[in-house]
Amino acid sequence: AWREICLVADSISTSRKRKRISKYVISREFPYKKARYLSNEIPETVPFSGQSWKHILPDVERVIVPGLTHWHSPHFHAYFPTANSYPGVVAELFLSGLGCLSMDWRSNPACVELEVRMMDWLAKMLGLPEHFLNDSEGPGGGVIQNAASESTLVGLLSGKQRKVKEALNTNIHMTSEEVRGKLVAYTSKESNSSVEKASLLASVPMRLLPTDTDCRLRGEVLREAIDKDKADGLIPCCVVASLGTTGTCAFDDLEELGKICEEENIWLHVDAAYAGAAFVCPEYRYLMKGIEYVDSFNFNPHKWFFTNSDCSAMWFKNTKDAEAAFKLKAEIPEEPLYEPQLENWQIPTSRRFRALKLWFVMRLYGVEGMQKYIRHQVSLAKYLESLVRSNEQFEQLVSSLGVVCFRLKGDDSLTQKLLDRIAERKKLFIMPYYYRKKLLVRFVICSRLTEKEDIDFAWREITSIVEELQKSTKQ
Ligand code: PLP
Repeated sequence: AWREICLVADSISTSRKRKRISKYVISREFPYKKARYLSNEIPETVPFSGQSWKHILPDVERVIVPGLTHWHSPHFHAYFPTANSYPGVVAELFLSGLGCLSMDWRSNPACVELEVRMMDWLAKMLGLPEHFLNDSEGPGGGVIQNAASESTLVGLLSGKQRKVKEALNTNIHMTSEEVRGKLVAYTSKESNSSVEKASLLASVPMRLLPTDTDCRLRGEVLREAIDKDKADGLIPCCVVASLGTTGTCAFDDLEELGKICEEENIWLHVDAAYAGAAFVCPEYRYLMKGIEYVDSFNFNPHKWFFTNSDCSAMWFKNTKDAEAAFKLKAEIPEEPLYEPQLENWQIPTSRRFRALKLWFVMRLYGVEGMQKYIRHQVSLAKYLESLVRSNEQFEQLVSSLGVVCFRLKGDDSLTQKLLDRIAERKKLFIMPYYYRKKLLVRFVICSRLTEKEDIDFAWREITSIVEELQKSTKQ
């Protein structure tokens, strides 16, 4: 069985066999079924007697596979990538097989120590400031969370806790409840919906601030919002900046925002869920200018960094702030056997052995392999951009890393028809997006199997639909 797994994983990793694999994906590419198709196929109750694999596996083929959306098809260009790789798959098998969890060091020394070292490897690979390292002199450090959404919540709760403490020290007549009722946080309208969700969970109202014409949150807008709230007696506690927004992969001006957060002692959390992986290439690090102001930084290796889901990396400038929010003082019976205590920087009690995935992935690809991958994916986006630019029926509105957004010239109805036909024909999977009140085709280089020929395929599909639409309008 193990040999078989390695053979399959190996075949995924070689381009020679790519055709065979991608054909399989394409022939069953996107769900053809209607909503609730599965309820007729799966009984309403658990079988009383256990069943054999002989009966279960054919049902996977029959019921599940036809309803799957194949995120690794080279023609899947929606949302953002979800990572998948040979070392990622093997590590997932290992950690499921080992079946262990970790809490404090005693619960699983290898899990904890590998996570501490991997978070430092990763921080160095991305060129993050030294103060984020677990190994640094100061109180900084990194931990693996489940998801970017959870990291944002952890950042927000840490910032909330820090501000409550500060406010109580400076306003001796206020109660803790009064301070909590006055807290407010900020992000841009373009940030991921998970940021607003974090505000609901943390019970801190989140101001969704307007962006500039490039979808970036700027200092001036933040300053104005903070001044207004302070004048109204509110207490600003956190800013969530996006490096690589979900819509157009825009980058907030971290330097401008950071200076304001420093002046006001406001927690600055960075959500770089997708784009953070690009910082492995030094030429993209200018996009995180201002990183020295950041209190917590997060990116998802499970998006664009070959590490199968779940694996979301989060660093703190000062982990004591997170500990103040999450550590249960009553539960510390003795001196810790090991520092750092990662379990105090997260919401769940235990952690899966996700560091193993990072270890396998970073060793198999190395810095060089990772840089090559990111550069190649960006070059494919640039290639698509050149095709869009060379066709005068289209206007190309945004291109950032692996995201290219474009539309047909004229009113939105043309682009809407194009998107509808793409969805009907099911040869490509693309999502729409609105940018500056205009409907766009939001095209993302997602699969690691995508190559130049797939971009040509996509462009042929798009332009042939446009031709078809033009013919039908003329008739
Ligand atoms: N932040 C950004 C910018 C995203 O694009 C996404 C998802 O695509 C998220 C956060 C949420 O990520 P997760 O599913 O890991 O919570």
